Amino acid sequence: MATAARLDLDGNLIDPITICMIGAGGFIGSHLCEKLMAETPHTVLAVDVYSDKIKHLLEPPSGEKAHAWAGRIQFHRLNIKNDSRLEGLIKMSDLTINLAAICTPADYNTRPLDTIYSNFIDALPVVRYCSENGKRLIHFSTCEVYGKTIGSFLPKDHPLRKEPEFYVLKEDVSPCIFGSIEKQRWSYACAKQLIERLIYAEGAENGLEFTIVRPFNWIGPRMDFIPGVDGPSEGVPRVLACFSNNLLRREPLKLVDGGQSQRTFVYIKDAIEAILLMIENPGRANGQIFNVGNPNNEVTVKQLAELMTEVYSKVSGEPPLEDPTVDVSSKVFYGEGYDDSDKRIPDMTIINTRLGWIPKTSLHDLLESTLTYQHKTYSEAIKREMAKLSTT
Ligand code: NAD
Ligand code: UDP
Repeated sequence: MATAARLDLDGNLIDPITICMIGAGGFIGSHLCEKLMAETPHTVLAVDVYSDKIKHLLEPPSGEKAHAWAGRIQFHRLNIKNDSRLEGLIKMSDLTINLAAICTPADYNTRPLDTIYSNFIDALPVVRYCSENGKRLIHFSTCEVYGKTIGSFLPKDHPLRKEPEFYVLKEDVSPCIFGSIEKQRWSYACAKQLIERLIYAEGAENGLEFTIVRPFNWIGPRMDFIPGVDGPSEGVPRVLACFSNNLLRREPLKLVDGGQSQRTFVYIKDAIEAILLMIENPGRANGQIFNVGNPNNEVTVKQLAELMTEVYSKVSGEPPLEDPTVDVSSKVFYGEGYDDSDKRIPDMTIINTRLGWIPKTSLHDLLESTLTYQHKTYSEAIKREMAKLSTT
């Protein structure tokens, strides 16, 4: 339930605000809307082209009484590429949060123009309207702006690879290292970096109050789609949904280039706590770039596949396959122009010092709750689809 009096980290009363949330119908947006409705008095103008993932917040299930937050969330179906209503919504709000983006790696090298337009060009009016109207902006960037680690350029067994300054990614220190232009994978990172620089410059030259968020592999329920069920059969979502899809269909999990890249995964519900702190503590969050991730949850992609196989077997009651994984080349899986981030460990000093935030959930626990959700949500639909295919 929304509480009447909320205090910020400095003990001051938090006034209810109106938030224009662009991309509210996506994975992160849906969790942020849920949190804001259930625990705060704030109002959300939810902007997206899709609303499926927030439908449960917009209308109560048939026959049930109105949600406690009815009237505090309004959905505006619009494409920010070409809709003149956007400026009005930003003007009506105290804060704009921009989540809208193409952000699945399979698109970066195959649809580089859409990727660059979505992550840079389409975000320009949002930044301009905030700056011109004196509105605060929280913009979602990505940990991918760091690109590759410095250590990855050293020989494999070089002792410096073990030194944290050669791989830990720090907002105000680490460089941004991308591959060459023909490695179109980096079109996303490069567009995100340029919009970060533009926002930073708007802050420096025109006084824009901004916060930039760099998510490090947030995962949980409602992430992406399961191909052939609630997304295109040929679509390639991010790794959590790819591996979930393989597990649901009892296929081996595909390890791109052997699954040697490393990632740190953070539970969406932990990460959303960090965003709420940013929303409600502008004095501590304005002018900052924050890494949001969990440095304790590092695995190789191969280890992730093994852990997901083990956890899924437990939640579904089905034994794992004899050969649960299969190697596939990145060229076959993603096509020409793919490249990869080798390792992503966030430095947590800034977010910890300014907002006191630390992630809590272990990789095992977050996979258990997420795969329980995937199994409950999708297993029947997949069984029906597979039965249909076997009879045609
Ligand atoms: P998502 O794809 O689930 O959500 C993005 C939402 O934006 C979608 O609902 C989409 O319909 C909407 N959108 C896109 N273009 C739009 C347009 N032109 N007009 C209106 N709506 C539009 O992705 P997500 O995982 O929720 O990510 C949100 C943000 O966080 C993105 O900017 C992404 O780059 C960033 N990010 C996320 C992660 C992660 O771990 N999930 C990691 C790095 C960066
Ligand atoms: N990956 C994989 N198999 C899959 C999907 C992804 O091995 O079915 C790998 C991918 O090559 C990358 C990592 O998993 O090394 C994470 O991919 P994701 O799409 O989640 O996004 P990223 O972290 O690269 O932004």
